[in-house]
This record gives sequence, structure tokens and C-alpha cells, in this order.
Amino acid sequence: MPETPRSEPQAPLIWSNALMFALTAAAALVLVPWYGLTHGFSGADWGVFVFFLVANGMAITAGYHRLWAHRAYEAHWSLRALYLLFGTMALQNSVFAWCSGHRTHHLHVDDEDRDPYSARRGFWFSHIGWMLREYPSGREDFSNIPDLRKDRLLAFQHRYYVPLAVGLNFGLPLAAGLLFHDVLGMLILAGVLRLVWSHHVTFFINSLAHMWGSRPYTEDNTARDNPVLAVITYGEGYHNFHHIFAHDYRNGVRWWQWDPTKWLIASLQVLGLTRRLKRTPVFQIQRALLAMQFRRAQARLARLPASGAAAHIESLRARVAHEYESFLAALAEWARVKEQRLAEKKRAVLEQWEPARLQRSLREIERRLSRQLRRMRVLQAQLA
Ligand SMILES: [Zn+2]
Ligand SMILES: [Zn+2]
Repeated sequence: MPETPRSEPQAPLIWSNALMFALTAAAALVLVPWYGLTHGFSGADWGVFVFFLVANGMAITAGYHRLWAHRAYEAHWSLRALYLLFGTMALQNSVFAWCSGHRTHHLHVDDEDRDPYSARRGFWFSHIGWMLREYPSGREDFSNIPDLRKDRLLAFQHRYYVPLAVGLNFGLPLAAGLLFHDVLGMLILAGVLRLVWSHHVTFFINSLAHMWGSRPYTEDNTARDNPVLAVITYGEGYHNFHHIFAHDYRNGVRWWQWDPTKWLIASLQVLGLTRRLKRTPVFQIQRALLAMQFRRAQARLARLPASGAAAHIESLRARVAHEYESFLAALAEWARVKEQRLAEKKRAVLEQWEPARLQRSLREIERRLSRQLRRMRVLQAQLA
């Protein structure tokens, strides 16, 4: 958990945001049970609610976040148009504002003066408080999105954001209500409840995903990996991985980790709608994981009594030291093989079998590191 948040100076309130969040939340709390008890929601109401909820969520995670903020892959114009449509409906500001703020969040993560939603300023601030007042950390500065500003469709969305967002939030549920003959039920469920739910789920990534969960890759920032959050945030709960390898199109990097956003992006590649998916090299991931394992093992060893230590503690100490040596040796060997490959490429005298041989050496180092990771996890359990 972050340290005690500092007391915030009273920045001027942003009335439009405060009213929007308060009124939509109040409407969801009152209208949903009232209509549910007096009229009841139809299957179509629930179906459209889920459809819009998932479409909004995925447009934010796959579109706003991984495509536009991080450039983790490229997308066909038709897909970008869909992201823009449902991302606008999610009512989380324009792509320009969202991505600019998010890039600043990554660059200055946890900095109380520069990270627009620093988790060190407490749960409320990082969840929603940062949008309610004109904090200096939230000042708009689009100098970090020159790539996005060239996109005319995004510029159009930014310019007409308010009428587009309001129109879609009323228009789409209204159209669905007319189609399924339940306008009020649809406006309440697929309009209001969908909006409030989708807001807070995304906000959890800035608040809870920086407070609750594990840090297997880095302790340099507050971001956490949390499989429970991953389920409700379409995979964004693997936030510790995301903060260290932000350009990877995956947040849940292991194949079994729940990350529907990565599955969507990868399956659309088959249809030619996405391409150039960026993946972090396995070696870099293993290096980060092992570095953390050693950091933890060292910290645990340091807490053990130094004098009169039992024989098994001494043996654990020796095993950790030995593992660390072989870790450093693997890193050095990796660097050597990479250098060799680069030199051979430069000389342009590569025989067919040469790159395959070097490639095999690199794979072998990766296998060694993954065996070492398993050993370190066993050691870690003995040290606990
Ligand atoms: Zn974050
Ligand atoms: Zn990010």
C-alpha cells in the first residue's frame, strides 16, 4: 500500500465532471432497482447492456490504451473507427486527452507532482478525484502525442467530443430501446448502468491496480499484477508487467493469464485487421523476473540472524549466491552471443547454418533461465 497520502490543496472544482459522475452514479443506484422491481428488465435489455459494456471496455483497452497510447500494434482503419465509436461512448474523454495523460502517467509514474493519477496520492485521488478538480498535475499538454495529432479522425473526435459523446450515450441505447420496445429499460440499463460500471472498472486500473496485488517484475513503481482485477478489466489487471513492458500488446503475458484484449488483438491479426504486434523478448521477461527473485531472496536472507545461524540457513545462503553467479554468467553469455550475431551480420558473411547456431545458443540460455526461475521459486519458499 502507498504511504499516507499528503493533504491536497483545494484546486478549483470541475463542475461538469463532478455533476456527470455524481448524477450518473445516483441515477444508477436509484433507477436500476426501481425499474427492476416495478417493471423488470427484459433479456434484450441485459443483452444490449452486456454488448455495450464489453464494446466500451474493449475500445478503451485495445483502442485507447494499447493501440493509441502505447502503439503496441497497428490496426486497420475499420477497426480504428469501431474503437473510436465505442471509445467515445465510454465517456472517458478524447483519445488526445486520454493518451496524453496516460503517457505522462507512464513516464512519471507515482510522482505526486507529475503523474496525473499518482496512486501515492491515495485511492480516491487515483480513482476519480484527479478528474474532479483542476490539479496542476492534470494540466493538458499534448506535446507528447505528436503521432496522434497527425490523425485527422482523432482530431475530429477531439474537436467534437462533447456532442459526439452525449449523442452516442443517448442515441445508441435509445435506438436499441426502440428496436426492442423498451426505451426506458434500455436507457437505464444499457445507458446509465453500463456507463457507470464501465467508468469505475477502468478507474480501478489507476487506483486498485496500483495498490492491490503482486509485483513479480519490478518494485520500482506501485503497479501490481492482480488476476481478479484482470477478469473485470479485460486483462488490464496485469499492471506490473504492463508498467515495465508497456509496448507489449499483452498485459497478461502468459498464455493462461486472463487477457481478452490480447486475445482480441491476436485473433484479429488472422483477419488482417491488426498487424505488427509487439512482443517483449522472452529473455527480457526472464531477466526481470529473476532480478526480482534475487532482490527478494537477498532481503529475506538479510533478515535472518547473522550469528549462530543454523547450518540450513548457511546452505540456503550458499545456494542463493551460487544461483546468482550462474544468473550473471547467463546474462554475460547472452550479451556475448548477441554481440557475435551482430558482428556476423555486419560482416555480411553469414553462412546458412550460422544464425541457426547462434539462435540455438540463445534459446538454450532461455531454457537455462527458466529452469533457474523454478529453482529460485523453491528456494524462495524455503526462505519464507
Ligand atoms: Zn498505471
Ligand atoms: Zn499503459
